[in-house]
Parts: sequence; structure tokens; C-alpha cells
Amino acid sequence: MDFIIAATYDSYIDAHLAMGNLLSEDINCWLKDENTVTIDPILTNAIGGIKLMVAEPQIDRALDILQRTKQQYQAQNPCPHCGSVNVEYVSTPKKASNWLGTFVSVVLNAGAPMAIEKVYHCFDCGFEYKDTVNNKET
Ligand SMILES: [Zn+2]
Repeated sequence: MDFIIAATYDSYIDAHLAMGNLLSEDINCWLKDENTVTIDPILTNAIGGIKLMVAEPQIDRALDILQRTKQQYQAQNPCPHCGSVNVEYVSTPKKASNWLGTFVSVVLNAGAPMAIEKVYHCFDCGFEYKDTVNNKET
């Protein structure tokens, strides 16, 4: 069976939670490169993070589930400037593919080691803002 990369994650915890989401919906999936990332987080960016691999016949449904999770998250984190929910949590430099991993780590306040700064970007007004949940520990 062929497997396709559905998403990539910066941290072990994020990747496992996403995989758990899909498994609970009977999606056949597994994580690639998770050992490398767990042992040496510095290497994560070099190898592109942990890859969530999904069985090809189920990829559409898997992406749908991931998308739904994203929309739920956006609805809870509207842009403070204009109120739009058309926002994305992005790395600087931009790396929008990691939205789900970021979403999970924010919820759990997992504090995965990240050298890259992440901000929310509003696609309606262009406003960028930091995540308040992650910053409260200071
Ligand atoms: Zn906005």
C-alpha cells in the first residue's frame, strides 16, 4: 500500500496527537522520522520534521479531518485586529504546513523546543500577532 505525507510536525507530541486523531477515525497512518526528531530536535528542520504518513486511499478523508481540526482552532482564535478567523499560525520564515502541530502544542502548552519564532497571520487584514497562550509562562 502506498502512503502519502499528510502533514509534518516539529515535535513528537504534536505528531502523536495528530496521528491519534486520525486513528480514532479509522485512518491507516504512521509517523516517519519520529525517532530522528525525538533524539535530536536540532535536526528537525534539516529533515523536515516528523511526517504523518497516511494510506493513499484514505488521504482525502485524513486531510478533511485535519482541516476540520484547524477550523475549530481558528474559530477559537480570531484576529484581535479585525475579528477574522481567516488566520494561520506560521513560522518565521513562513512554513504554513505546520499549523496542526502548532495547534496541538498550544493546547497542551507542550513547550517543544523551537528555534523558529511563530506568529499568527491574518489573511484578511495582514495583522500578525504572537500566541498569548505560549507567552504566558514568562
Ligand atoms: Zn485581521
